[in-house]
Amino acid sequence: MGKREKIYEGKAKILYSTDDPNLVIQYFKDEATAFDGKKRGVIQEKGRVNNQISAKVFETLESQKISTHYVKTLSETEMLVKRLEMFPLEVVLRNIATGSISKRLGIEEGVTFENPVLEYYLKNDALGDPLLNRSHIQVLGLASEKAVDEMEDLTLRINRVLLPFFLERVVKLVDFKLEFGRLDGEILLGDEVSPDTCRFWDAGSETIQRLDKDRFRKDLGGEQEAYLEMYERVCN
Ligand code: ADP
Ligand code: UDP
Repeated sequence: MGKREKIYEGKAKILYSTDDPNLVIQYFKDEATAFDGKKRGVIQEKGRVNNQISAKVFETLESQKISTHYVKTLSETEMLVKRLEMFPLEVVLRNIATGSISKRLGIEEGVTFENPVLEYYLKNDALGDPLLNRSHIQVLGLASEKAVDEMEDLTLRINRVLLPFFLERVVKLVDFKLEFGRLDGEILLGDEVSPDTCRFWDAGSETIQRLDKDRFRKDLGGEQEAYLEMYERVCN
């Protein structure tokens, strides 16, 4: 399965074509960005950590009959995935308040929601990934009502699998962002599930100990150590 041409280079990953038009390689970079690319840096070993945590998460979801794009791991920093027609949407699920919801709605950081909160954002850096409701999704023609229902259902199911998965590893799954795509009429989970796209708090601490990209976003330091700690807890 040799690498062919670069199809797309994003902020955190590069996609390469393969001999098979239905399969692509996701290469995970060490480069980190925040605030729609306005802040840039490098987190050493991030690519390796995110690739392998994502692989473990996708395998776990597949074992629970949730379809993902994951095919197999090719190297420390690369996975083979099914090529999807992506929805230009970010689906965010929140179990605990932090980040933009705390800021926007004045909800104190750390408050646990009785039921998870679901949000949609438009994947568009130039517009700053704006928050969308279901009417916006319809008016922009981004996904049918049925597809949104399906993504919502999948996101809630994924949360029910991943909450205990991470808690067994002494990690609170605070919130996360998913991206879905279509393949032959089916909706599959694509992209990645990693400390770049989830908020992870150490469940063994009384105070908030962040094991995710917030260390980079907030200039807290220790980002490499946090990513490696997540790697140890999830992959070893
Ligand atoms: P960004 O585009 O936000 O800078 P990345 O650097 O993570 O993000 O780039 C990866 C890109 O690949 C994203 O645009 C994502 O939607 C897309 N993608 C993820 N999985 C697949 C897939 N299975 N098939 C096609 N595209 C995918
Ligand atoms: N998130 C992401 N990519 C984005 C925006 C958010 O992966 O472009 C994730 C983020 O890591 C967190 C969740 O989505 O797990 C909710 O993010 P929030 O809206 O609070 O982000 P903020 O605006 O505070 O960065």
